Amino acid sequence: MSEKRTELSRLGEFGLIDRIQQQFSLQNETSLKGIGDDAAVISSGEESIVVSTDMLLEGVHFDLSYMPLQHLGYKAVAVNVSDIAAMNAKPEQIVISLGISNRFSLEAVDALYEGIRAACDSYKVDLVGGDTSSSVSGLIISITAIGRVAKDKVVERNGAKANDIICVTGDLGAAYVGLQVLEREKQVFLTNPEMQPDLEKYEYLVGRQLKPEARMDIVHDLAERNCVPTSMIDISDGLASELLHLSKNSKLGVKIFEDKVPIDHDTFETAIEFKIDPITCVLNGGEDYELLFTITPTDYEKLKNHPDIHFIGHMHENANQNVMITKQQTLVPITAQGWNHFKVE
Ligand code: ADP
Ligand code: MG
Repeated sequence: MSEKRTELSRLGEFGLIDRIQQQFSLQNETSLKGIGDDAAVISSGEESIVVSTDMLLEGVHFDLSYMPLQHLGYKAVAVNVSDIAAMNAKPEQIVISLGISNRFSLEAVDALYEGIRAACDSYKVDLVGGDTSSSVSGLIISITAIGRVAKDKVVERNGAKANDIICVTGDLGAAYVGLQVLEREKQVFLTNPEMQPDLEKYEYLVGRQLKPEARMDIVHDLAERNCVPTSMIDISDGLASELLHLSKNSKLGVKIFEDKVPIDHDTFETAIEFKIDPITCVLNGGEDYELLFTITPTDYEKLKNHPDIHFIGHMHENANQNVMITKQQTLVPITAQGWNHFKVE
């Protein structure tokens, strides 16, 4: 054994995943796509099966002092469905692994599963298995989702071409601002438990943090309009990080325009209240679970009237130039790393 010790913070989460990816090669013809996308792609006749897994840890991904268990159950399913949506696939099954301590009652587990059931109904997925274990470090929920899509309709992160139009759904930054509101109210409550949090004004933002939805509706709308994106990813880590994934995987540069990026009025106003630039919440925030995708310019006609799809820029040949044109017409590089879990605070 050597004495060498390398800190994980030197690689970061993405560096670590890249390293793991390099150490494994695929051995089965049915493994069409391994590590490196929103979901793995497995060949199954005329169709592909897509598989994705996501783990939520108490104290890292959620805080039970403001996250009701029902919402947590719903969110745990939604974030997995979002990765299936990002492959342009339809989710069909989930399995759930639960790490839980005796701090939780049966009623608490019921509440968690009520949320999981609501999400299963809304996304039409079946809970088909899982694993249960005791935990000494808080609640752990790990979900694996399995989806299906016709072979020629799978959308990966690497298919964009130069001049493809960059699209995003919904509005961005709200979940991050919602989290700031919740954290602030928590601190107020801890200082003075008599104070009741006043969240009414922030209902939309808090809802975006606690009750995210996977955009399966968009996957259906794209199919209805006969549009297959050239690349796609869900926005879980902030727009900047996801744009860089598309850039890296497609070996192209991205150019976006700040004034085209959809930001809700409440997000904008509340970001200012917190003295944060709203566009920073969009680029470096997280957990919006909207879709980011590229389309070939000839498909623009099919989507241009969609009320919830926004065209924010385009791909270009220079892979090293990922930029945003600001409202002041200045050019700023897109550099964010998204959430780096191993960052030394
Ligand atoms: P997402 O944000 O869409 O959930 P991640 O950034 O978590 O995606 O993962 C990117 C890719 O790396 C995926 O293909 C995922 O399956 C893979 N991956 C993540 N962690 C590991 C790990 N510890 N071992 C193997 N593959 C991993
Ligand atoms: Mg994803």
